[in-house]
Amino acid sequence: MIDVQDLKKSAWTAIDSRSDWLIDVAKTVLQNPEPGFFEIKTSKYVSRKLEELGISHDSGIALTGLKGYLQAATSGPTVAVIGELDSLRVEGHSYSDPETNAAHACGHHCQLGMMLGVAVGLLATGVLEGLAGRVALMALPAEEFIDVEHRYGLHKSGQIEFMAGKQEFIRLGAFDDVDMAMMSHTSLSSEGKFAIGGTSNGHVVKYIKFLGKAAHAGGAPHNGVNALQAAIVALNALNSQRETLRNEDTIRLHGIMTGGGVSVSSVPAEVKYEGRVRGGTTDAINDANEKMDRCLRAGALTVGGQVEIVTLPGYMPLINNSTMMDIFSNNASQIVGSEHVRRNPDHLNRGGSTDMGDLSQIIPVIHPYTGAATGAGHGIDYLVDDYIQAVVNPAKAMCATIIELLSNDAQKASKAIADFRPNLSVEGYVAIQRSRLNEEVYNGI
Ligand SMILES: [Zn+2]
Ligand SMILES: [Zn+2]
Repeated sequence: MIDVQDLKKSAWTAIDSRSDWLIDVAKTVLQNPEPGFFEIKTSKYVSRKLEELGISHDSGIALTGLKGYLQAATSGPTVAVIGELDSLRVEGHSYSDPETNAAHACGHHCQLGMMLGVAVGLLATGVLEGLAGRVALMALPAEEFIDVEHRYGLHKSGQIEFMAGKQEFIRLGAFDDVDMAMMSHTSLSSEGKFAIGGTSNGHVVKYIKFLGKAAHAGGAPHNGVNALQAAIVALNALNSQRETLRNEDTIRLHGIMTGGGVSVSSVPAEVKYEGRVRGGTTDAINDANEKMDRCLRAGALTVGGQVEIVTLPGYMPLINNSTMMDIFSNNASQIVGSEHVRRNPDHLNRGGSTDMGDLSQIIPVIHPYTGAATGAGHGIDYLVDDYIQAVVNPAKAMCATIIELLSNDAQKASKAIADFRPNLSVEGYVAIQRSRLNEEVYNGI
């Protein structure tokens, strides 16, 4: 009988011995940031690294995504390890691209090192021979739901349907042969070395155009219809809703102006806003989304203009699988000590959103955090400062979790899969997301 602990030790030794290579991968991606669906260089680079490990894979899934497999000795379930390819855009970040403002201010560059680290561990002598099943190594685009106008254009032109990486992978059937999935996300060192559990906000995405009429801003503003004033009224109206939002629903209403007019001497005729309605439950999101739409219409009505409201299917709240959490926590504790592994209560909501939430409605997943950064997440000063904890330790914890799931003829994985009750099938998920896309033109003239 194969000793599971021996397999883990072999994997960990292999990962440790290539830690410089794995950290170099993360740092190289850090220095070449690309936002979602633009990850051309990043995808090619990760593809080359998979080739270096001898792992054949498909590329170009949802434009830039990658997927390869490691096959164990006998057949069994497929467990996916996911790394996210995309950066944010944060102007002035130390590692931002001066032309695009792209910057890895959410630590996704480390996830690619982790994913390859899991592969390195599984490729250690004798490990795959002791397991049953397969491990899918997946690099996914576009977790950060940004560049909404651009993505809506990709949608309109038929290059993608859903506008985030995991959403589109699910639609394309790229998770159809995956039974369970995991990834680890960096967080602040001050939050401890590992944290697992809790949930996230779901959301819908708003792409808004206020439409007015241009006129001479000095000579004849009374002949114009000011789209910027419409937007100002709408955003003030949105702020007036806050007392109606319940704390337990963790609603977040926020956005950015992406176009505010083109010339100061002309009354702004078109003003663009990209926004987000986040919340802990579908009902709460729908309620807040209706409020946002009322406010947007109020802006158009006030000035006698129009507003185009496009609501795009965003993310669903995250559900961490308890069996996988138990296994991950035990392995993380063996690596960093149990005092450095925190288990969050199921209801704890960090307020942000992830498309791992979408996947969690369909198959068992975990999305632990690894504390390895300083600064503010998504901020100008978010920097990973402990690359062992950001890349090597989570790779070891995930690799050991997979070994435990797939050893002994994959008994633990099979039981977790059998016990799992999905909220949605793939078909049900795709149908719901399609139904959430809504386009409205409100005429306040
Ligand atoms: Zn992020
Ligand atoms: Zn992130």
